[in-house]
This record gives sequence, structure tokens and C-alpha cells, in this order.
Amino acid sequence: MTNKIRVTIWNEYFHEKENKKVAEVYPKGIHGAIADFLGEDGDMEIQTATLDQPEHGLTEEVLAGTDVLLWWGHKAHYDVKDEIVERVYQRVLEGMGLIVLHSAHHSKVFRKLMGTSCDLRWRESGEKERVWVVEQGHPIAEGLGDYFEIPQTEMYGERFEIPAPDCLVFISWFEGGEVFRSGCCYHRGKGKVFYFRPGHETFPIYYQPEVQQVIKNAVRWAKPIPTKSGSIPVYEPSKPLEPLS
Ligand code: ZN
Repeated sequence: MTNKIRVTIWNEYFHEKENKKVAEVYPKGIHGAIADFLGEDGDMEIQTATLDQPEHGLTEEVLAGTDVLLWWGHKAHYDVKDEIVERVYQRVLEGMGLIVLHSAHHSKVFRKLMGTSCDLRWRESGEKERVWVVEQGHPIAEGLGDYFEIPQTEMYGERFEIPAPDCLVFISWFEGGEVFRSGCCYHRGKGKVFYFRPGHETFPIYYQPEVQQVIKNAVRWAKPIPTKSGSIPVYEPSKPLEPLS
């Protein structure tokens, strides 16, 4: 048994193979770039999974051995099998942490966990973003200042069709005037969910130290909390609920 946080990074891994510009920014894939910095501090055991793998790389064994799952998707949300979405969803309810990155706002699993469309306003013009920390005592904001800036980004604007977060850690301002709830915490069942906005595929955002710090913090925040017996929640394939008599 390891004391390290068992992390799985899921990426649809589409743009990097199809678009030269994206491949130049993320030669190891977005999942590879995230794996590199999450591995720096030695407190995480990291594996990656992609859409093309059998069961999208998210077999029951993989999920049973995952404390925190990160999800990056954009173009291929509808290619993710409902069976796998249900498996991830159930595992979150059992206690697995889920970090939902950037355009994964429209992933099937995030929409299912939120119960809303998760639609938003967007514009891709490479403008500046200022990410304000609005909950400075929160573990996900550890090590940050009052705000940090991303020099070139895709804009996401309100209204973001999500339920009010349990805790809102970041609000972004964009050069074009829009604002956006960029760091949203939720509890679903025994699991913790964090949505983090930055991370468009054509910009080197996942190499920026503040962004890396937030994602590391989020993984540590989202890991399952040990129960009284010292064990973390164990995944069991979902069983249909018995109707109440
Ligand atoms: Zn994007």
C-alpha cells in the first residue's frame, strides 16, 4: 500500500495528434505535460489514460486504484461511452476526487455531476486573463498571491450554467470585459469535484507555475479522506437501488 496520492490523468488526446500547432505546445500530450509537473514533488503516483485505449483507459481496476482523476476533453465528449461515464460518476460518489479542466466543462461526467448544461460564453482571441483568488484561506489557493495573470488565453464568460459552487476559489477577468467563475468546488456523495478553467490546447498554460500550483493543490484537496478504520472508500460496481417500500 502506498501513501502517495494515486492520480490518473485522462485526456481525450485528439488535438495533439491532429493539429501541428498543438503538438508543438504539448509534444507529450496535455496529459504528459500535467504528469510531468504533478510528479515533481514525489507525493503522487501518476498514470495516464486516453480515449483510444480499451474502456478509454478507465477500467474498473484503474478507477479502483485512483484517488484523484483529472479530466481534459474538448472535441470528443460524445465519443466517451456512457458506461464509462457512469463508472467514473459512481466512483466519485464513492469518494474519488475529480479535477475537471478547461473545456471538460462540457464533458458528460461533469454535466451529470452538476445536473445542468454547463454552457458558457467563449471567444478565442488570445487575450489576457487575470485570475483573482477570492477564497484566500482555501487549500487550493495555497502559495498564490491576490491574483495571477495568464498572458494569452481563450475567454470563457458568464453566465456559466452550473449550480452555485460549494466554494468559489477563483474568479477570472478578461481583457474583453467578461468575468467567469474559474475555480469551483463541489461535493458529490463522498467525492470532491474541482472545476478549473485555464488550459486551452494552443496556449502553453499548463507550463505556467501558478497554474501548476493550483492543479497540485487541487489534487491534494480532492484526495479521499481516510475513514475511521483507516481505509479509503472502495469502489464497487453500481447496483440498482432497491425501491423504498
Ligand atoms: Zn479551449
